[in-house]
Amino acid sequence: MSLSQGRTILAIPGPSVMPDRVLNAMHNAAPNIYAGPLVEAMPAIVADLKTVARTGHHVAIYIGNGHAAWEAANTNMFSAGDHALSLVTGRFGEGWGQSVGALGVNVQAIDFGRRGPVDPAQVEQALRADRDHKIKVVLATHVDTSTSVRNDIPAIRAAIDAAGHPALLAVDCIASMGCDRFEMDAWGVDVAVAASQKGLMVPPGLGFVWLSDKARVACATSDRRTPYWDWTVRTAATEFWMYFGGTAPTHHLMGLRESLNMLVHEEGLDHVWARHATLARAVWAAFDVWGTGPGAGAVELNIADPAYRSHAVTAARITAPMATRLREWCEREAGLTLGIGLGMAQPGTPESHGFLRVGHMGHVNAHMILGTLGVMEAGLRALGAPHSPGGVGAAAAVIAGV
Ligand SMILES: *Cc1c(COP(=O)(O)O)cnc(C)c1O
Repeated sequence: MSLSQGRTILAIPGPSVMPDRVLNAMHNAAPNIYAGPLVEAMPAIVADLKTVARTGHHVAIYIGNGHAAWEAANTNMFSAGDHALSLVTGRFGEGWGQSVGALGVNVQAIDFGRRGPVDPAQVEQALRADRDHKIKVVLATHVDTSTSVRNDIPAIRAAIDAAGHPALLAVDCIASMGCDRFEMDAWGVDVAVAASQKGLMVPPGLGFVWLSDKARVACATSDRRTPYWDWTVRTAATEFWMYFGGTAPTHHLMGLRESLNMLVHEEGLDHVWARHATLARAVWAAFDVWGTGPGAGAVELNIADPAYRSHAVTAARITAPMATRLREWCEREAGLTLGIGLGMAQPGTPESHGFLRVGHMGHVNAHMILGTLGVMEAGLRALGAPHSPGGVGAAAAVIAGV
């Protein structure tokens, strides 16, 4: 008998669960875009977006998803024939590098595999080898959502500095912004990109690019820049239309105003980060128990070292085809939607059947995570999947702080 009636939970790594407060804030008639509350709200929205990225520099807002935010950054950073170094730890790092390459930029990629972080020593080596300082930008992914690895951004900055290389550091924070600690200025990040539908808890449709003064100067003559994406106009916006290069994303801004109220002015970013960290540890604790004992290895976290695991998403291996069967069971029988595996399988194998991802980003709390894990454990039992029971108890101990 299916027990899926009741409120469902979407535990995929974006779009994330949206707060009712955000949805309600969007439930308005079309506003005036020439004067009035929405126009007047912009300076504070911009200030709060800078707070979220921990920067005193600039932010540009675009109407688009994460892929659009990549292109926004790309067109501003590069001229045709420039060089970039792309650090790949999963499907998204690969994708960003490809989108840069499509602009006629020479992209040198270093692939660190799918099960661990960027090795800063290799970054330093690659930059030392670039004696003429051709590489203009190092592209890094903070959290690669496909593998759930969390890269050590300060260590990558340190590697660039150790090589004495002037390259800018650009970081994809689409999965991590508002989930994992990110300190743009303190970490020496020049460009950061994010989107609205993950940690920021707003529907997909807004992309953000934060940039330092250094990036603005270094990229002043980039020839791939086109009017819509031009960050020079957007970061100096004083008129409402200038923020968006046309009609504003009115209702997304209403939702964003409310989510920033929650993240910045009510809960506070440090608490937001700590909440995500604790809930992530609860998820890992459950998987650790499921994966021990008889049948060990049938259930396994993709990233072995907790220091390099995302607090927003967890990728796991569950022997094929059980990962797919478990996802289907959870949705059909219990109203829980888990994320598919992405970009992790060997070539030629049906990739998602041996992998899944649990999204725990944004508007999530302890009972949602314990409910998610409880349903997953029920599914493992119902399907007769090899695992050790007791994962939910281990997660409860993390939540209890004992
Ligand atoms: C989700 C995500 C993207 C892509 O964002 P879209 O909004 O789906 O275009 C890129 N990079 C990372 C790290 C992501 O998590």
